[in-house]
Amino acid sequence: MSSEEELPPVAVIGAGVSGLGVAWELTCAGHAVEVFEKSRGLSGRAASRTKDGCRYDHGANYFTIDSDELQDLIFESLPTEDLIKVKGDIAIFDASGTITPGDPAQGKGDKWNYRGGINTIGKLMAETVGLVVHHQSRITGVRCDEESGQWFLQSMGEHEGQESLLEDGPFSQIVISIPGPQALTLIESSEFDEDLQEQLIEALEPVEYASQFSFLLHFDQKISFPEQTYALLNIDRSHDISWISYENGKAHRIPDGQHLLVVQMSPAWSLANFDADQETLHSGLFAALSTVLPDLPDPDWIDSQRWKFSLPQSEALAPKVASLGKSQGLWLTGDAFVGKGRLGGALEKGLQLGRELVSHIEGV
Ligand SMILES: Cc1cc2nc3c(=O)[nH]c(=O)nc-3n(C[C@H](O)[C@H](O)[C@H](O)COP(=O)(O)OP(=O)(O)OC[C@H]3O[C@@H](n4cnc5c(N)ncnc54)[C@H](O)[C@@H]3O)c2cc1C
Repeated sequence: MSSEEELPPVAVIGAGVSGLGVAWELTCAGHAVEVFEKSRGLSGRAASRTKDGCRYDHGANYFTIDSDELQDLIFESLPTEDLIKVKGDIAIFDASGTITPGDPAQGKGDKWNYRGGINTIGKLMAETVGLVVHHQSRITGVRCDEESGQWFLQSMGEHEGQESLLEDGPFSQIVISIPGPQALTLIESSEFDEDLQEQLIEALEPVEYASQFSFLLHFDQKISFPEQTYALLNIDRSHDISWISYENGKAHRIPDGQHLLVVQMSPAWSLANFDADQETLHSGLFAALSTVLPDLPDPDWIDSQRWKFSLPQSEALAPKVASLGKSQGLWLTGDAFVGKGRLGGALEKGLQLGRELVSHIEGV
């Protein structure tokens, strides 16, 4: 066995598209990598659910393919049978709820998704190259052993019948791929070089994410939604609702005779109502919705998701922050480096960091 093969694996914290992008590049280059994910799923905020035969996306709604590397990944490296183009335009609405076609450039370009839900992207990446993912592993801190320079992941778990701090490892490198404020908390409760820890805390402290409620409204009768339109966007950010989309615009998702709307509330409304009870939430939702789509019938069910860290609100982190800990084996990625919520952008950041890590490990 060569010395390179004996290196401990790389650990990636977070199985969102960015973390999976890192793991993809490392795996393709033949390096051992293990992904630790707190949930049972893959793809993070690119999230999908099923109810009554309807498959819908309660996080990211669609993605665009804006670079050659994404084009290669999606069309060449991953299976494409399940890929769908979302039909219809994106119109806009203002503070009063008045809908206009808006800037024709808005939402132009192909909008992509998968039949099985937007989270299919992570599943395909994991299946295609056999990524090793540990689910239900919430990492609470990382520790670098001073003598060996090797890394360990910390989590809470049961040991001899007691809730204890457990460690996984050793790892040669650690990649933190979670939203900026969560990365900050993790780094604050970690044990490694104090100077590096301070630099990372200083870089991450200004990073802000909006909170956001997504409501999923199901109708068993036809609803009136503007013709040829897939979604309505509040472009001037003056309405309590940011986005309404008609999931029937995604082929093979909603059975005939059923209709499903995704309503994403504004960050301001979501923050003000973050801990509100269901009755208050629903009455606020319907008051806001009636100004945009006044003729909607009552939905027969409503599903919801409260995203604490939904979309980055602050400037993108400088690229150099990703590799501030390079000499010690600590790396960062995620959409905090994009500065806005974009599946494609987050995935690209992960792929780029993955390639940088491969070069670093191989010493090229
Ligand atoms: C409501 C909403 C609408 C959106 N709409 C769009 C859209 O239409 N188009 C678009 O392109 N983008 C959209 N986005 C943004 C897009 O989803 C994100 O930019 C992208 O998915 C971010 O990927 P990521 O890998 O950086 O982070 P995430 O997807 O957040 O991945 C991080 C992962 O880390 C896990 N994790 C967190 N903490 C820990 C821990 N301590 N230990 C282990 N695991 C942990 C999380 O469970 C998660 O799986 C939307 C997002 C939301 C929430």
